[in-house]
Amino acid sequence: MKALVWHGKNDIRYDTVPDPTIEDGRDAIIKVTSCAICGSDLHLYDHFMVGMEKGDIVGHEFMGEVMEVGRDNRKLKVGDRVVVPFTIVCGECDQCRRGNFSVCERTNRRADLASKMFGHTTAGLFGYTHLTGGYAGGQAEYVRVPYADVAPVKVPDSLTDEQVLFLGDILPTGWQAVAQCDIEPTDTVAIWGAGPVGQFCVRAAVLLGAKQVVVIDRVPERLSMAVAGGAIAINFEEESVLERLGDLTDGKGPEKCIDAVGLEAHATRSIDSVVDRAKQAMMLETDRPHVLREIFYACRPAGTVSIPGVYGGLIDKVPFGAVMNKSLTIRTGQTHVNRWTDDLLRRIEEGQIDPSFVITHTGSLADGAHYYDLFKHKKDGCVKVVLKP
Ligand code: NAD
Ligand code: ZN
Ligand code: ZN
Repeated sequence: MKALVWHGKNDIRYDTVPDPTIEDGRDAIIKVTSCAICGSDLHLYDHFMVGMEKGDIVGHEFMGEVMEVGRDNRKLKVGDRVVVPFTIVCGECDQCRRGNFSVCERTNRRADLASKMFGHTTAGLFGYTHLTGGYAGGQAEYVRVPYADVAPVKVPDSLTDEQVLFLGDILPTGWQAVAQCDIEPTDTVAIWGAGPVGQFCVRAAVLLGAKQVVVIDRVPERLSMAVAGGAIAINFEEESVLERLGDLTDGKGPEKCIDAVGLEAHATRSIDSVVDRAKQAMMLETDRPHVLREIFYACRPAGTVSIPGVYGGLIDKVPFGAVMNKSLTIRTGQTHVNRWTDDLLRRIEEGQIDPSFVITHTGSLADGAHYYDLFKHKKDGCVKVVLKP
């Protein structure tokens, strides 16, 4: 079959690879009908995450049709149409039973690597480094889905791929980031990053009843998309984020702050970002935490900081004194996708939210390398790419 394969920094190729096969009775093989490129894939493309190996099939946002089912799988049957969450979950361990799916204790077949890096294992993920199991990803014609009797979400034929595809990652990610803020009607929610995740944070914050939603980025068409969803925009290249947030909140600061940027933050006019880039290049720091620093200063005392943005390793010069002395609450994590999918699928069916608004480009999987470049450099107004095998 054909798949997008990681060969190194900025080097994704459309290669011929062996077809996946059933390896365990709970598995299923899915024929991918649509897949997408995520901001998290860019961290691999830019080679900021450790644990990638040449030849790894990438991609963790995908859906399709069930082609084959293992003999112990009683949930799926051939022909079912499913969205596959990026988190592989067993459904039985202590964490899964509590709904903490992204830290499932059993699905990471390289738990040894994760434990060394993080102190404990986390869940297996599709197409996302050997630290999370080295599972083949979904930017491919076919995918083997392990533990396929738990996470895959069956979707009705009345909804298009474009309407349901993002149930597997970025829609619940934006939703969880906001839900973890426990929104009150008096809240100002400030969201750093107007990428696809930031866009869904905006929609969630509006739906969950925030008083005011503010979004920070520097890409005009991303800011406009967020404004169309009900947000006030701050372009961090044109104005001071801290001053403007102060103006919008009577000098108090936003009660709820969301980092939808992660470890590749950009900054202008700031000395810390120059130092971060140098340190990252010299491997003295794995991640660039400019947004975290800004958030910890901006957030109102006793406020909540929610961090869906991905960090991989070590960060430097983070003002933890502000976190402690201002009594901030930090909520973060890879998304516990299946915690939210029933509710979000219902909201899509009822027409409360149509996630397809975020798609700006649709192309062929064969042109994957081109679309990675387009998405990374935000060329041609690119916000979200959907690929068809
Ligand atoms: P993206 O790269 O398209 O968007 C990031 C946005 O941040 C860009 O528009 C960029 O211009 C903006 N940005 C950069 N520096 C900034 C700054 N200093 N201030 C404000 N904005 C800034 O990515 P995405 O797909 O929207 O994903 C966003 C983050 O969420 C990534 O780190 C991704 O890995 C992460 N993510 C996490 C989960 C999870 O389970 N927690 C799931 C999906 C994505
Ligand atoms: Zn993702
Ligand atoms: Zn589990």
